[in-house]
Amino acid sequence: MFAAVYIDGVAAPVSDDMPERVGVEYSAESLFRCRACGEDLISTTEGLSTVSGEVDCRDFEPPDGPDSDQLDGPHDPERVPLSWCNSAAVHSDESQDSVTVSISVGDPRGAFTFTIRRVPDDSDGDLAGQLVMHTPYVGEAAPHMPLAALHDGTYLIGSPYATRA
Ligand SMILES: [Zn+2]
Repeated sequence: MFAAVYIDGVAAPVSDDMPERVGVEYSAESLFRCRACGEDLISTTEGLSTVSGEVDCRDFEPPDGPDSDQLDGPHDPERVPLSWCNSAAVHSDESQDSVTVSISVGDPRGAFTFTIRRVPDDSDGDLAGQLVMHTPYVGEAAPHMPLAALHDGTYLIGSPYATRA
């Protein structure tokens, strides 16, 4: 068996052994940033502020033009892309003849996992030698995060009643 790792299409050096786990980890300092000044934003009692405590945006543009009396204004928040993702990984296991993709969005110690494996040829039953896929599902015991089915193959992650952060 030969395996290679590609990063943005470029082969990355790996040891002579087939890699068992390849992972990408993300760390967002903040869930929101300002469209105007680009600073990470945090919630305070006075509203959204930069990490250094600036509630007014240095790049605020008055809605009624540069001659406006309003010189100070708030930050313009937007979500930081991928700030919901802790990590993603591919794990191959020759002993199980399986490949697992994992994506962590909740507790960083866990992840949603999607596994395809081949049922051993010498196992009993019709599935011998067939490929099977395991995915997260609604009502799973000890889920990474609760799921609610929207339609086949598509799930809402987390409680549908939770307030949007
Ligand atoms: Zn700003």
